Amino acid sequence: MYITYMDTQTPTTLQEAIVFFSNPDNCHAFMMNLRWPDGKVTCPQCGSDNVKYLPNARVFKCFQKHPRQKFSLKAGTIFEDSPIGPDKWLPVMWMLANCKNGVSSWEIHRSIGVTQKTAWFMLQRARLAMQDGETGGKLGGEVEVDETFIGGLSRNMHKDRREEKITGTGPSGKAIVAAILQRGGKVRATVMENRRKKALQQLVRENVEAGSSVYTDALKSYEGLDEFRHQVIDHAECYVRENVHTNGLENFWSLLKRGIRGTYVSIEPFHLFRYLDEQAFRYNNREESDDSGRFLVAMRQAVGRRLTYRQLTGKAAEAGAAS
Ligand SMILES: [Zn+2]
Repeated sequence: MYITYMDTQTPTTLQEAIVFFSNPDNCHAFMMNLRWPDGKVTCPQCGSDNVKYLPNARVFKCFQKHPRQKFSLKAGTIFEDSPIGPDKWLPVMWMLANCKNGVSSWEIHRSIGVTQKTAWFMLQRARLAMQDGETGGKLGGEVEVDETFIGGLSRNMHKDRREEKITGTGPSGKAIVAAILQRGGKVRATVMENRRKKALQQLVRENVEAGSSVYTDALKSYEGLDEFRHQVIDHAECYVRENVHTNGLENFWSLLKRGIRGTYVSIEPFHLFRYLDEQAFRYNNREESDDSGRFLVAMRQAVGRRLTYRQLTGKAAEAGAAS
């Protein structure tokens, strides 16, 4: 089936986005353009293009015989099965893609009018869309590698539970995060069990082309990265020696920590990687011309990904999630 529709205009500010997406026709045109830019709608279940649009119900119907013949524009995206409409979802995507320090579930709760729990679930789904899709390739050229401790996780947890959850951490129960930054390119950040040689060097070898220039601090774990042009900056002596420094990652750490301390009061350690995805997304798309550019990148990555409440929490969906 082919549908022709207007060239989708895209809003340029949050205020315009809220007004624009409050119109269901605009949401429809926008999502159509995002999912099927050539106008050729295909069934997410079977791939058939023998589908018809039912305008009153705002769903499509596939004519092949299989379960779930009817599907909405949300099917096969992070929005699938969410009772929240695109008029609320799209501004939330906009905010998380663009707010430098992140946006808390309490802020979403107040500004969008969903419960705080629902807002939390929406944000975790949105972070899945921000996960870097290109994990296969390696970084190269001039590469900084560094690791840091993240504190302030799960302050609200009972002490016993906290000790059981936070394992393999560094001093005073903090989590360890390592990151690799290709100068002028992308950052990849990941939660580490420890910062011993085996783990850190494996991370470098999996993510960096042999022969690249690798800059680290003087941590002993980095000794022996012999297939790289490895240069060390000893922070006890100085922070920059010509182009040997880790200042790109220092900048990333300060953005990450500002978001975690200032915006997200309590992060469960096992969800920390989602907040890394979020901050890395904004960092990696900092060259996008404007907020709508970052929003569009996140929205394109929202297609073909799913995160259910059960996957997120290990529990069945709560009844109140719809409110
Ligand atoms: Zn089908």
